[in-house]
Amino acid sequence: MRSKRNPIRTFFLFSLSALLLLVGGYALGQRFPLTIQTTLFAQTSLEDDIELTHRILIIAGHGSDVTGWYDSGAIAYDGEYEATLNNELAKSLQNSLSNYGVDSDILTENVYRNMMYYDEPYVFSGYDFVIELHFNASDRGTYTGTEIIYNSYNASDLSVHQAVADELETLSGSSMIYEDDEFLVQRTIAQQNIPSMLLETIYIDNYSDYTLYLNNKAAFVDAITQGLLTIYR
Ligand SMILES: [Zn+2]
Repeated sequence: MRSKRNPIRTFFLFSLSALLLLVGGYALGQRFPLTIQTTLFAQTSLEDDIELTHRILIIAGHGSDVTGWYDSGAIAYDGEYEATLNNELAKSLQNSLSNYGVDSDILTENVYRNMMYYDEPYVFSGYDFVIELHFNASDRGTYTGTEIIYNSYNASDLSVHQAVADELETLSGSSMIYEDDEFLVQRTIAQQNIPSMLLETIYIDNYSDYTLYLNNKAAFVDAITQGLLTIYR
């Protein structure tokens, strides 16, 4: 029986081995693509994570506070509200940054009034940089150019401020960077150890500045974008 059973047993063992080999080989074959897929997926996830850390917060100056009280900001040469221009610029800047893979959030509410009068808690951690957008006005509409204001907390590294100033100066003709600790929003951001700037893009009550801006909006957005991108270079 043994001699008879042996071929069967051999055949059985052979079949079993073949089956195991087949299953094993299949599993092994599957394993490699799976491993590669997993690795690729892991790399993609990692890149996504890195991209997610590329986050800029854009604060559009003025606008409505928590009670609905509206602050127009400065009034432009043609009667346009600064708050409207800030919002428009914020959205354009967000689009522009996204073209470079940089995510950003926009706050359109009146952050200043919410902080100052209603103790609204704002947490800025998680952002690489906060830019607060404004347009300037002077008493008689005679001032021109770009101004960038920073809090003394940020004084140790003004490279991004300088980059944005340099980019904008090619358009607006002049840009000035100065320290001022009186700005509540900037102070609050800085005290949370997040680098930030307040940008007074140009003087909207000055005819030549305002016209320059209206005719070159895309160039202004690109200039601010290129300056901000230096954060990641
Ligand atoms: Zn303003």
